[in-house]
Amino acid sequence: MSASILLVEDEEKLARFVELELLHEGYRVSKSGNGREALEMALKDPYDLILLDIMLPGLNGLEVLRRLLKEKEVPVILLTARDAVMDKVSGLDAGAVDYITKPFAIEELLARIRVALKLHAAHPAAGSSTAAPKEEGILTWQELVLDERRHQVRYAGHEITLTNREFLMLKILLENQDIVLSRDTLLSRVCGYDYAGETNIVDVYIRYLRSKIDDVFGVKMIRTVRGVGYVIQSGTE
Ligand code: CA
Repeated sequence: MSASILLVEDEEKLARFVELELLHEGYRVSKSGNGREALEMALKDPYDLILLDIMLPGLNGLEVLRRLLKEKEVPVILLTARDAVMDKVSGLDAGAVDYITKPFAIEELLARIRVALKLHAAHPAAGSSTAAPKEEGILTWQELVLDERRHQVRYAGHEITLTNREFLMLKILLENQDIVLSRDTLLSRVCGYDYAGETNIVDVYIRYLRSKIDDVFGVKMIRTVRGVGYVIQSGTE
């Protein structure tokens, strides 16, 4: 059976255009131009994927996203305005699997939809604490312990609350201690694939991690390698 998509977009011409393209690709499509209505639809009916505009009447897209993902798990791709970096970061933090910046080429949107559907089918709860344990993943650096299975990070016994993306970025850095990871590498590992040109998102996550770990516990865990990227060095403090 073809995948069903909920398209939430209040710009009618854009919504109609995307709807026709999706139908042409063989997807089943439902549409809403109002955040509150879209949230009700998304909670009531099972969709395989949701395309969610951020600036919406009724209820802001980010709020729709937060409330929705509290209740059920569904891949959401955000439709964002150009340069709204904080919207993108907030959206990814809130659990969106991807975003696309308007105006976009329809082929790019279709490609991202295919990837999101494929990833979700392969890892239905990826990044969530309810995910099935893949391994006994315990990673450490000094007194920091990242427990992948329990989705928990502690420093000297103190629990640190991280978002899913922060957790993932820390995990990747810990897995690759002493290897400098470029912003592009971190971005593609954390966000799933190539977000060319959006590497400032990596810097935002690094800043969050430092504010929650380095600043709080007085350590220098994450090093900046100027012009290259970031690294956690196993022998440093
Ligand atoms: Ca809008």
